[in-house]
Amino acid sequence: MEILLQKVDKALAKTGIPLGNYVLNPYKGCLVGCDYCYVQYNKGIQKTKKEWGEFVFVKEKFVELLEKELMSIKDIDRVLIGSTTEVFQILEDKFNLIISSIRLLKKYNVPFVLLTKQPFVADYIQDIDYSNRNLIYITVNSEIIRKLFEKRSFPMEERIEAINKLFKNKLNVIAYIGPFFPELTDINEIFEILQGKVSKVYIEAYHPKMGNFSLIKRKLEDRQDILDILMDKHRYVSYWEKKKMEIEEINKLYNYELKFFITQYDSYY
Ligand code: SF4
Repeated sequence: MEILLQKVDKALAKTGIPLGNYVLNPYKGCLVGCDYCYVQYNKGIQKTKKEWGEFVFVKEKFVELLEKELMSIKDIDRVLIGSTTEVFQILEDKFNLIISSIRLLKKYNVPFVLLTKQPFVADYIQDIDYSNRNLIYITVNSEIIRKLFEKRSFPMEERIEAINKLFKNKLNVIAYIGPFFPELTDINEIFEILQGKVSKVYIEAYHPKMGNFSLIKRKLEDRQDILDILMDKHRYVSYWEKKKMEIEEINKLYNYELKFFITQYDSYY
């Protein structure tokens, strides 16, 4: 694992992502190292020529820059934290960039949306509970996905505990099942475990253009049934037509507020 420092001249970047009009990423790269991560093919990451999941750049003077920008930029509506990295890197303890950034957002009363698959966010309830526009997405999945495709993420059990803690404390938390892999993600099990612990569940379908598909293919070489669904447009589309209805039917038992994110196959292949 390589930890490197990077000089930057700004902390916030404008974005067209609907969740917020600015993004904040204090790290570049990610030590969680998910095979399905789309960020590994970003230009800036490709230029490093480093193995995905084995390096992270820590942005120097990030918090100082952020404070200056929060004082001077007047059109910030909401900030998306972690659009291209896991914000709770395992070295966050050492650098404290995320929690210091959140404390600044609180100071300037700027709401945020945070995306994470680590449970640490639940340790900072007193810092994050300042706006009803704050929104926290925590990724969950079947444990097999973590074991197969995520190098350094925390067990699902711990993420679910974090979701529950935020939910009990009345924070806006969403259990984000992503990416959902056909025949591997067990929706019955996840719905059952989440019962009473959250009210919103969003589901994102895995698509073969997400991340390093040749590596994923190798890891699934004994699961031709899954590869057949992923690699054939018609099977993929009909799988999701049926699966969506099936999930909605199962959800009648649980009543989660559900949303699906299923990318059009043609927009990739
Ligand atoms: S944790 Fe998020 S940013 Fe990091 S590798 Fe996984 S998907 Fe990518």
